[in-house]
Amino acid sequence: MPRRYSSAVVLGASMSGLLAVRALSGHFERITVVERDVLPEGDEVRKGVPQAAHAHGLLVSGYRVMDEYFPGMMDKLEALGAPVGDIVGDFLWFQYGRWKLRHDSGLRGITVSRPCLEAAIRGRIKALRNVTFVEGADGVRPTFDAATGRVTGFIVRPRDRSVQETLDADLVVDASGRGSQSPKWLEESGFGRPEEIAVKVNVGYATRIFERRPGDLFNSMGGIVSGTPPAGTRAGGVLAAERNRWVVTLGGIVGDYPPTNEEAWVAFAASLPVSAVRELVTSARPLTDIVSFRFPANQRRLYERMKRFPSGYLVTGDAVCSFNPIYGQGMSVAAIEAKALDDSLATGLDGLWPRFYTQARKIVDIAWAIATGEDLRFPQVEGQRPPGSRLLNRYLERVHAVASEDQTVCKKFFDVLNLLAPPSSLMSPRVAWRVLARAAPNGEGSPWGVMRPGSVPSGPSKP
Ligand SMILES: Cc1cc2nc3c(=O)[nH]c(=O)nc-3n(C[C@H](O)[C@H](O)[C@H](O)COP(=O)(O)OP(=O)(O)OC[C@H]3O[C@@H](n4cnc5c(N)ncnc54)[C@H](O)[C@@H]3O)c2cc1C
Repeated sequence: MPRRYSSAVVLGASMSGLLAVRALSGHFERITVVERDVLPEGDEVRKGVPQAAHAHGLLVSGYRVMDEYFPGMMDKLEALGAPVGDIVGDFLWFQYGRWKLRHDSGLRGITVSRPCLEAAIRGRIKALRNVTFVEGADGVRPTFDAATGRVTGFIVRPRDRSVQETLDADLVVDASGRGSQSPKWLEESGFGRPEEIAVKVNVGYATRIFERRPGDLFNSMGGIVSGTPPAGTRAGGVLAAERNRWVVTLGGIVGDYPPTNEEAWVAFAASLPVSAVRELVTSARPLTDIVSFRFPANQRRLYERMKRFPSGYLVTGDAVCSFNPIYGQGMSVAAIEAKALDDSLATGLDGLWPRFYTQARKIVDIAWAIATGEDLRFPQVEGQRPPGSRLLNRYLERVHAVASEDQTVCKKFFDVLNLLAPPSSLMSPRVAWRVLARAAPNGEGSPWGVMRPGSVPSGPSKP
């Protein structure tokens, strides 16, 4: 297909920037990616993306977009030892006091370290002939035509030179993350600022990488163990990664930050509601020190509500909305936004931003509702509780309980969690009937569900 537009600039070469470039690559003759860091050859954690040291779950929705955009990439990651499998059948989920029913859900996904996934995508993007990377360069600001309000380019300052240069562009995409300067740039250029909302959560992460041995953690791809709100402020995430490793992240909400001192970190793991994480971290060989991260608040910028917006300018990824990382949504939302960008470009550059935001907003709305809905269960989290939220929360607690025994309810729960179905689908008559008619189960259930030792179809025991 001939490419219809001349040049685009993408600011930021992290997950949302790379995925946006992939979306643009079929539409633009030249795409320039501006990135502050000098990008590593391999899968190192770099300064601009410090969160990459921590467990990054990829939702099935994100997996599907990446698998479609980069054919064969998931197989290559699997060959490096990152397990591909059923995210319900091959994974352990302990939430709301019970194990989710482990069964073949058909929801295929991967567990892989964040730097390895980003490096694989970066490699694919660098191989595209119409893409150039300008690394070690600060994005200074976009330029606009004052008369038409259209983007004309983007000013960059390479770190090794004192002079700035302007890159011409028909489209500029800001994928520079949570600290994006777009609100300031748009205001300075006379377009006004987007309204901003935040839900403070004070989440802390502390992560260590361990050696992964066959048979660890019920031979699964990993597990999530979380406490029950409002008292249970702690969670542990264990994700199998390439090269026989486990990425183990302990997290706490509302200021219950996990420590970085080894003994206290293990004690934090031991305080989780079941012993699986503690057993792993006290038996496996640690490969790194413990590193920490603090995440203050869910943050959303409502660009879709702006009265005036420059044509040829877009904002995507964490720069629009950054979610409490506990729900593992950011990379997948960025992937779905890239698809929205791709679709929106099919009908031209004119009117791109309302078309893009109308689509992107739908997925951001859902992910925001899931993340903040769960966060607002903690009384310490400030924010407007929607009317009926107590009743809804009680219903969702039943969903969690029934999902430990009923495959239909369990599958629907994971469809929603993976942004494949809207939360309202948990209230459909087919699901609601099963949720309400079934007696609430007792006890914590079993990490095996309907799976039996040896029945795991693929997983971490593969080299
Ligand atoms: C602790 C933690 C854990 C997380 N866990 C998960 C998870 O489990 N699953 C998940 O899907 N998501 C997770 N996320 C979210 C995920 O990391 C982000 O959603 C994802 O990286 C997409 O962000 P982004 O590309 O929009 O921005 P970022 O990843 O923040 O990248 C921004 C990029 O822009 C560059 N940049 C910034 N400003 C400039 C400038 N002026 N000039 C040039 N370059 C610039 C930076 O160097 C960087 O490369 C987590 C986040 C945190 C904080």
